[in-house]
Amino acid sequence: MQGTPGVIPQNVLSVRDTIWRAAIRGGRDPDTIRLIAATKSVTVERMREAVSAGVAHLGENRLQEALPKIGALKGLPITWHFIGRLQRRKVKDVLGRFTLIHSVDTVALAQEIDRRAGQAGIKQPVLVEVNLGGEVSKGGVLLRDLDRLIQEMDGMPNLSVQGLMTIPPFAGEAEAARPFFRQLRELASRLSHMNLRAIHMKELSMGMSTDYEVAVEEGATFVRVGTAIFGSRHA
Ligand SMILES: *Cc1c(COP(=O)(O)O)cnc(C)c1O
Repeated sequence: MQGTPGVIPQNVLSVRDTIWRAAIRGGRDPDTIRLIAATKSVTVERMREAVSAGVAHLGENRLQEALPKIGALKGLPITWHFIGRLQRRKVKDVLGRFTLIHSVDTVALAQEIDRRAGQAGIKQPVLVEVNLGGEVSKGGVLLRDLDRLIQEMDGMPNLSVQGLMTIPPFAGEAEAARPFFRQLRELASRLSHMNLRAIHMKELSMGMSTDYEVAVEEGATFVRVGTAIFGSRHA
């Protein structure tokens, strides 16, 4: 195997190529789509391989798991994303460490981020996670509560709302996710016409290993890909 690229760099190349082709098919500029490597349960060494292969965005789900990794990879050109469910009491440790929080889904959580960001003297970029499938087991604001949440967040001075995130119901098949990705894009478009003060709907975080290709066709600006880069977490 010496001299041949490892499996992780090969996977990164192949995912990038798939993103590029999906962007072209969707009539989009491939440079507007950023690949986030989802690294839950992935070791620091394997994360380093992905970064060496050019991955600049890493997404972690759990703070306890992320903290030592952020420490170990300090100094590398990495933008950290918080993509998991966020408990209010963890907010103070997430701020300042993660450039973008993808999973704001309640007024209470938004308030806590706003309050802590204000104390720290920063403006925290966030996405609002939408639970399009209405699944009780999952995070994300339900559709019927979305407008109220967005309006409340518009009044929070230390938040910068950049867009929406979703995890569609699992169907095992990429095409089944398409209507949800389309729906998220349409929601963002509708919200961006609501004349809110500080809400920008420029980012759509959608698409994972089984369906990122379809998400890119439907307008994703961030895709969050784990298995297709690092292999199965249950191997
Ligand atoms: C694990 C995870 C991903 C990546 O999932 P894969 O199917 O392994 O690509 C993306 N987003 C979130 C929020 C995740 O928890």
